[in-house]
Amino acid sequence: MSEDLTILAGLCDVPTAPYAEAYVVAYIRHWAGSPERKSAIEVRTDAVGNLHLLYRAAADHVPELVLEAHMDHPGFLVEACGADGEFTAIFRGGVKPSCFAGAKVQFWLPDAALKLPHDQPLLPAGRWLPARVAAVEAASGTSPIRAKLAWLPECLPEQVRRIGPGSIGMWALPDSHCLDRMFAARVCDDLAGAAVGLYVLDRLIDGKVAANVRLLLTRAEEVGFAGALAAAVRELIPAGCAVIGIETSRAMPHAPQGRGPVIRVGDKTMTFSPSLTRFISMRAGGIADQDNAFAFQRQLMDGGTCDSTAFAAFGYDAAAVCLALGNYHNMADADSPAAIPTAGAHIAAETIHLDDFFGLVRLLTDVAANFSAYAPDHGALRQRLLTMYEREQKCRLESFDLL
Ligand SMILES: [Zn+2]
Repeated sequence: MSEDLTILAGLCDVPTAPYAEAYVVAYIRHWAGSPERKSAIEVRTDAVGNLHLLYRAAADHVPELVLEAHMDHPGFLVEACGADGEFTAIFRGGVKPSCFAGAKVQFWLPDAALKLPHDQPLLPAGRWLPARVAAVEAASGTSPIRAKLAWLPECLPEQVRRIGPGSIGMWALPDSHCLDRMFAARVCDDLAGAAVGLYVLDRLIDGKVAANVRLLLTRAEEVGFAGALAAAVRELIPAGCAVIGIETSRAMPHAPQGRGPVIRVGDKTMTFSPSLTRFISMRAGGIADQDNAFAFQRQLMDGGTCDSTAFAAFGYDAAAVCLALGNYHNMADADSPAAIPTAGAHIAAETIHLDDFFGLVRLLTDVAANFSAYAPDHGALRQRLLTMYEREQKCRLESFDLL
């Protein structure tokens, strides 16, 4: 399988923050606009700005499989600019206030007003302007974290003047790059998950695979599953359908990086659809039987709660998969390698392992291609257990006396 990183690296370099996903939307619309994709994928934006990429290449009776990832990442939005070069920004997402002290942040200055969706370059044109956190106010009640920042001396006054309320800020980390098989970026959570979905669609298109797949890319997961909840509550996807959430999730001792994609049996809040989880596991086992090099993990990833919980709570047949994530939400792990870029004593690039990434692309492509065989009940399992009982166990039970 080719390992072209262009889309993964490109997408993970795009500025994003909760509620401010417009650049990600623009990037993906541009991606979907190439001639070979345009004829195979229909792009829709729903009532709340979630993106739906519809690949329909199977008969209408073949059920639709929804793959879902989110387009935001914990980040800053400028609140108010002062005359003295200081300004305040709201931070949304799960990062400990103790990580902010002295950290470097950068704010996105676009070259021109964002145009949607035509004429948009694949990567947004603009530059990052660096600033430093001077003080931070912890979140309280419904108020998010608020940071006071100061521009660094290299910022030109005419550039700073063009930064206004709503401008996106992210930790001052370099663009994505690889260190051996480790991929490091400002954002892996969850643009790497969204990239998995794009790579799966490309493989379905290349292979002319007969499947009906919807890649749902949601907004504002980091602040309480906003886009996913809207999709579930307003039935922006078919009621009760199968949804597989694609996430990055904090690596755990029992689910380390580089041991393959994780079939996530549950998160901090829920355990997911037993039948859909089992179907994914069986497909993964089938690939591993054919290819010794294919590894996968099946684990509870209870480091956080993900969109699949929102879908499960509203009656969807929801399962989840994930990539084990290093430096979760940019909070530097104690054992983060020295080569991984940092933006302060406690802030570092997020990492994923490329073997996990391409393993997950392979697994979900296989799940999508074979999804017509999925039955959302335990009938097939029950039949297998019944056969085993009747052929092997029943007569033995009956032929042995208890004493
Ligand atoms: Zn996430």
